[in-house]
Amino acid sequence: MNIYRILSMLIAVLLLIFGADTLLAQKTIIHAGRLIDGESERVREQVSVIVEGDQITAIESGYTRAGANDVVLDLRDKTVMPGLIDLHVHLEMESTPDHYINRFIMNPADIAFQSAVYAKTTLMAGFTTVRDLGGSGVNIALRNAINSGKTVGPRVITVGKSLATTGGHADPTNNWRRDLMGDPGPFEGVVNGVPAARQAVRQRYKDGADHIKITATGGVLSVAKSGQNPQFMMDELEAIIETARDYEMHVAAHAHGKEGMLRAVEAGVLTIEHGTYMDEEVMQAMVENGTYYVPTISAGKWVGEKAKEEGYYPDLVTPKALEIGPLIQDTFSRAYKYGVRIAFGTDAGVFPHGMNGLEFGYMVEAGMPAMEAIISATSTAATVLGMQDRIGAIRAGMLADIIAVPGNPLNDIGVMTDVKFVMKDGKVYRID
Ligand SMILES: [Zn+2]
Repeated sequence: MNIYRILSMLIAVLLLIFGADTLLAQKTIIHAGRLIDGESERVREQVSVIVEGDQITAIESGYTRAGANDVVLDLRDKTVMPGLIDLHVHLEMESTPDHYINRFIMNPADIAFQSAVYAKTTLMAGFTTVRDLGGSGVNIALRNAINSGKTVGPRVITVGKSLATTGGHADPTNNWRRDLMGDPGPFEGVVNGVPAARQAVRQRYKDGADHIKITATGGVLSVAKSGQNPQFMMDELEAIIETARDYEMHVAAHAHGKEGMLRAVEAGVLTIEHGTYMDEEVMQAMVENGTYYVPTISAGKWVGEKAKEEGYYPDLVTPKALEIGPLIQDTFSRAYKYGVRIAFGTDAGVFPHGMNGLEFGYMVEAGMPAMEAIISATSTAATVLGMQDRIGAIRAGMLADIIAVPGNPLNDIGVMTDVKFVMKDGKVYRID
C-alpha cells in the first residue's frame, strides 16, 4: 500500500468522524482594530471579519476565537476597509520622456510584460479593482491573465482602446510622419460620423472590452495644439452611447474644455474624467443627468510639475501641462461643494503606478472629509462599475477584497499611501 492510499483512507476516516464541514471549511478570521465598511460613515472598533473562500460571510463584534482549522490575521493595530477602486488608470504604460518613442519600439509582448508589473504594483498599493481607461488593447489580455491566475494584479475592468475623432486626443497616429500616419478608422478607435461611431463601439465589444472611453475634448499629453477643444459632434456622441447601451457598456469621457464636456454630459456619458474647465452650468447638467466626476487630481499635479523640467514633454505638450494640470484640484473643490457626485480616479500611468493613494490626500486638502474620500473609492466607485453587489463594501455576501492601513485615516489621510495588508477574492497578497 503506497503513501497516497494510506493518506486518502485516513482522510476518509476523519471525514466520517468529524463530518465534511468542520474538517474542510477553513475560515479566515480578520481581527480588525478599526473597521470602515466602505458604504456607511460608521466606524467600528474591535471587530472580526469572517472570510470563507472568496467571500465575506460575517462581521462579528469583538475578536472571534478561531476553530482548529481557522486562520487568524491579526490587524488589531490597523484600520481595515474594502479593497480600493481606482476608476482611471492606464496599466499598459507609465509616462516618462521615453513615452512618445516607446510607441515605435515596443511590441505588444513588451507592453504585456510591463503591464503585468504595473498591475502587481497597483494591487500591492491596496487597489483591488481598477478601470483601465485605455491603452493599445493589451489591457484586455492583462485582465484575462489576472482573472485566470496567470499573473497577479487587481480585478481589471477595461475599455481596451479609447475612441477619438481624427486628430483627436486618442487618435493613435497623431503627429506621426505622414507616411506612417495613415488613416486609422473604427478598428483602431478613430470615429468620424454615426456609422463609424457604432462600428467602433461594436469593435471594442468584439475585442473584449468591458466599457467605452471617449476623448470628448483635446488632452494634455497628446502631441496636438489644443488641450480643451470639443472633438465629437452630438450625433456621434449619441451614437456611441446608444450603441454602448446595447452591449451593457457605459461610456467614460475624458474632458477638459467646457463645450465638449457639456455635450458629453447631455448625450449621457456616465463619468467625466478630469473635468478641468467645468463651470456651474456643467455641474448643474451633471447633477441633473446623474453624471459622476472622476477628478484625477494626482495626474494634474504631476504633469504640472514635470512640465517645469526642460525636455520632459514635447514642445506642444509643455504649455498645456503647465496650464491645465494645476487647475484640477480647484475644479474638484468647486464640484464637491456644488454637490456633483464624485467617484475616485487618479490617471495612474500618467504618474508612477502604486502612487494612487496620494489622491486621497489631495481630495481632503481640497475640502472633502476623509470618510467621503474613502467611500468615493469603495461603494461609490463600485456603483459606477455596476458591481455594488460584489465589491466596495465590507458586508456579508461581498467578495473578500479587504485592505488595511496603519493608524486611523480619518485623523491622518496620509496613511492611505501606506497599505500594509491586501486581500483580493479571499486570498492574501500582502501582510506586513
Ligand atoms: Zn487617462
